[in-house]
Amino acid sequence: MPHPIWRHDCRAFGSRIGTGAQICPYCGERGKFDGWGLSMVEHWGHYQRATGLPAFGPGRLPGTKLPIVRCGTCRGIGIYGTPDQGGPCPDCDGRGMWLDATEEEKAELLRRSEAAARREEQAGAGRVEDEEDRDEARDEADDEDDE
Ligand SMILES: [Zn+2]
Ligand SMILES: [Zn+2]
Repeated sequence: MPHPIWRHDCRAFGSRIGTGAQICPYCGERGKFDGWGLSMVEHWGHYQRATGLPAFGPGRLPGTKLPIVRCGTCRGIGIYGTPDQGGPCPDCDGRGMWLDATEEEKAELLRRSEAAARREEQAGAGRVEDEEDRDEARDEADDEDDE
């Protein structure tokens, strides 16, 4: 679940930090609410919904600058409001981010993503260790979809 981020000047760290706990576990100070945060898996979910591309592997098109736009209202998180009354951001319907691209451009990105994944699959035949790594990554992405 998205969680509130609490920010404060931490005596223990000697710098400004944000944590998921209102009371800092290091110095005991009460932080100031500073918007919402997502877990890594939730970030991946946003990315996949926004781009239509997988969050892992060559299908993510490394080296390609995707025209991703982050919602300014919720800063790409998709949740807006106070810690007590957070809800889906009204400006992006809780998506957090989207692609600034036409349907044709999105379809083209998807084609390139699938081609890159296929190339990698063929090139990677025989590299057993790499295959296992990718399978693990896929399992985690699947877990996100189940929620
Ligand atoms: Zn602290
Ligand atoms: Zn938003």
